[in-house]
Amino acid sequence: MNKEEAISLVKETEICKNCLNIVIGKGNEEADILFVGEAPGKNEDLQGLPFVGRAGKNLDGLLEKVGLSLEDVYIANILKCRPPENREPLPDEIKSHTPWLVCQIEEIKPKVVCSLGNYATKFFLANGIVEDMEKQSSITQVHGKVKEINFKGLQIKLIPLFHPAAIIYNQKLLPLWEQDMEIVKKVIKENVKQKTLF
Ligand code: URA
Repeated sequence: MNKEEAISLVKETEICKNCLNIVIGKGNEEADILFVGEAPGKNEDLQGLPFVGRAGKNLDGLLEKVGLSLEDVYIANILKCRPPENREPLPDEIKSHTPWLVCQIEEIKPKVVCSLGNYATKFFLANGIVEDMEKQSSITQVHGKVKEINFKGLQIKLIPLFHPAAIIYNQKLLPLWEQDMEIVKKVIKENVKQKTLF
């Protein structure tokens, strides 16, 4: 599907008709590292940018800790529009919104993808086939386990991470989140030339 068709598909969905802003992404479109979250929340909908609310602060902390800036990464979501009351994405919405994400991935060609939470992780593990997402392992089973995947012809190191919002609600996840950051640091050091270092 070309990008224009993918964008139209998003615009036809109910959640798109009811949101304030389509949240496309932020960061460097030439980055080697892509972070993918679930869906915009209230603040993201208001500002038209991903991860600008409380969960975004945790993500900023992760980036800072592993020595990355928005120059080194691109950040997007599975859904481009906020679902009402921040409910979880529906399969049909994922089907209509992810072709645009796939176009972005084909343009960015990331070497490393950090999938944030269950939805993004299962989407990549299922190779973008929404019907197969249900069968995939959950984030509690696979977080911090680097997996080499072939996604739409691109060789990608997938690093599943807990969703930064989950850390806010469940402080027990904090030590695991810290451990996973060390994995991110290691994979980036081995695979990516950081643009801000030199
Ligand atoms: N949670 C997400 O998954 N994405 C955002 O952009 C904000 C919060």
